[in-house]
Amino acid sequence: MLINRRFLLSAGPPALLLPASALARGADITVTDVNGLAVLAGAGCNVVALPGPEGALLVDGGRAVNAAQLLKAVSGALKTRRVHTLINTHWHPDQTGCNEAAGRGGGQIISHEVTRLYLGRDARSPLYEGVIKALPPRGRPTKTTYNTGSLEFAGETVAYRYLPAAHTDGDLFVHFPKRNVIAAGGPVSAVRWPVMDHLNGAFMHGFLRSYEILAAVAKPDTIIIPADGPTLTGADIVRQKDMYWALFRQMFAGFNKGFGPRDLIETRPLKDYEAQYGDPAQFLDAAYRSLQLATVPH
Ligand SMILES: [Zn+2]
Repeated sequence: MLINRRFLLSAGPPALLLPASALARGADITVTDVNGLAVLAGAGCNVVALPGPEGALLVDGGRAVNAAQLLKAVSGALKTRRVHTLINTHWHPDQTGCNEAAGRGGGQIISHEVTRLYLGRDARSPLYEGVIKALPPRGRPTKTTYNTGSLEFAGETVAYRYLPAAHTDGDLFVHFPKRNVIAAGGPVSAVRWPVMDHLNGAFMHGFLRSYEILAAVAKPDTIIIPADGPTLTGADIVRQKDMYWALFRQMFAGFNKGFGPRDLIETRPLKDYEAQYGDPAQFLDAAYRSLQLATVPH
């Protein structure tokens, strides 16, 4: 939950459900088909699900309070309730609420090593109120990577790769090459500005590098599933990469003038995109502070 209401109220329209045809509908969770993957929206984040002979593969799991409802929706869509493999794109509670249920059922949980470390201790984030409690051991990742990994699941390759310092400092994206789909996680958003957890490792340089990686891996027609809201394409990612590079140059021009975050926001460096993505103040604030944290002695 975003705690900065001032920004939240001006952040444009709320998350929209994915636009493809609905397969099924639970109480609050919508299931949508994306090239044969089930995408479940409404549990806290977009959850990507693929059926296998010994249970489901999930990318992210929504919030803990919605875990039972999510698994019920997975069961309805995939005809299996067991989670065989769960990949966490990062450690935020909107993504890791299903970890305990998956671990309790004997499922493997895959993440970046940094995500495993965060889930093993109490943490704080400017994006969430209060302390985010450590998960019990059975909810923590059982297989981690620092960079890349892959697995064979139900006859297809599922690859995952680090997006350095983009949304946290432990982001993974998940690539389903056979389906031409990428689950991009937190760094990407289709209808509003993305969020950077700049006190937990998100850094403008890494954010840009992550867009370069996604733009290199995706084809123009690859479907990109963000952490929440509707899908994008690989062509959209290239356009956004160019937009963020132009912003990066403007940020450094401001940096050389001694600007603080508010000064930068007042120059409206993203004004050409405000109609499409809403007020960028929160994104600009976090992105600029990430530069200051890394380069100004404190
Ligand atoms: Zn997040």
